[in-house]
Amino acid sequence: MFCRSKLIFLVFIWLTMRSQSFEKSFQASIRTFRSSFGTLRLKLKPLDEPIVPRFTYPVGPLRNERFSDCRHNEMTFTTVGTASAVPSMNRGTSCHMLNYNGDNYMFDCGEGTQVQFQRMGLKWNRIKKIFITHCHGDHQFGLPGVLCGIGQAATQSEAAQEPIDIYGPEGTRAFVRASIALTQSRICVPHRIHELKNVPYFHTRESSKLKMNREITIDYNPAFGEKLGGRDYFPDKNYVYHLTDQNETLQVQAAPLEHTVPSVGYVVQEKDRAGKLKVEVLRPFVKAQAAKLREIYKPRRGNVAELYKKFKDIQPNQTFTFPEGQTFTRDQIIGPDILGRKVVVLGDTCNSGWIANIAMDCDLLVHESTNAFFFDLDYPRVRNYFELEKEAVSHGHSTPQMAAKFASEIRARQLVLTHFSPRYSGGPELFEMEQMWKIEHMARLAANGTLDGRNDIVAAWDFMTLSIPRRYADGSPVSEADRNLTAIRDEGEEKEEQ
Ligand SMILES: [Zn+2]
Ligand SMILES: [Zn+2]
Repeated sequence: MFCRSKLIFLVFIWLTMRSQSFEKSFQASIRTFRSSFGTLRLKLKPLDEPIVPRFTYPVGPLRNERFSDCRHNEMTFTTVGTASAVPSMNRGTSCHMLNYNGDNYMFDCGEGTQVQFQRMGLKWNRIKKIFITHCHGDHQFGLPGVLCGIGQAATQSEAAQEPIDIYGPEGTRAFVRASIALTQSRICVPHRIHELKNVPYFHTRESSKLKMNREITIDYNPAFGEKLGGRDYFPDKNYVYHLTDQNETLQVQAAPLEHTVPSVGYVVQEKDRAGKLKVEVLRPFVKAQAAKLREIYKPRRGNVAELYKKFKDIQPNQTFTFPEGQTFTRDQIIGPDILGRKVVVLGDTCNSGWIANIAMDCDLLVHESTNAFFFDLDYPRVRNYFELEKEAVSHGHSTPQMAAKFASEIRARQLVLTHFSPRYSGGPELFEMEQMWKIEHMARLAANGTLDGRNDIVAAWDFMTLSIPRRYADGSPVSEADRNLTAIRDEGEEKEEQ
């Protein structure tokens, strides 16, 4: 009797293993069991997310095809390193680059970033600002090396230019000063170090409540590239840090996140700009009244074409009146406003709620997604998604589902998942990419349909570049072709008048 039941059990296991996916059949049999005996209120563990029969492949499954339509834009985002904890053959540790009109704004600088720069052919001298999210090594071990690398590569005239601004939570200044001074790195590029003070600690892990990094101070020493002018920033009453002056084109704010050390996310906001000038409406009046206009407005080079720039400065509710009395409202001579783009780059987090207000309606959200539930990798250490999420949160990290829910809450247009555990290799082989598409799929299911375009969620790989398109207030994109056309037209107009 014992042998027969043992045999039946073994046959059952064999049949299950033979089927295409052990995980699916296992869950399917639990479901069948549940539907047959549902009324018995069996105490079964909750299932993983529902199995969706057809897996959706992203648009252009091969990497270089996915975003090939959007390279030539003046605002692009590149993932330089997408690993958590340690660099691997396929992934560097955390580092991202926002390129805006040729200037680079770097977010985090994990170990090995110098090598990543060389692999992607990045120009060192274009780095304007560096933002560090928190003090963990996988986010800043590369910083001293990068500062020295830039210093070594810079020509004398470049080194004399504006210093690089480095922003980070308390401890960043001591870390950079100590690393540079103790290694006698006199080649370090000129830099200023700004600190975000009193970043709150929300996580429950007691062992990380150390105040160590706040207690260490290293004296300023101009021999190692540091310049005076590093500022301390304190949060406002909503715990938001305002890191830029009003006149800067890109405004940067920061707010705290929940992690096992004080961690922040950065929000980069481009200013709104006036829409296209309706040159065809203005031209007849400008031409006919050129002499009078020149007399009244005294253009610098005596050319009325310079006035076209002035028209763009007209504020809402203002009007412009020509010398002969024709009056135009702003809407009559300028097309709809072009919204400034918003990019949100978060540090490590298991709860991003504190930054939600300033991250609202962003064009791009970069959110960590360290751990995902894969039955074949995680069972029986954790038995289902919920146990895995609990484990991730205890380490101060997020799952794809958590990232997607946050993206959905703040109405992000695009979500980039990054900071992956070393268990997801991130390589270019099909089976490796498939693993990442599954991670995207998990996120998509959790985004409640708010991010359901197939390239709206992307599990990042190193050196992936996205462009961030401009949009009008109604959400419609300002196409590249349209912008170029406007620029050519405006320029041609000036020449015509000269
Ligand atoms: Zn990390
Ligand atoms: Zn961390």
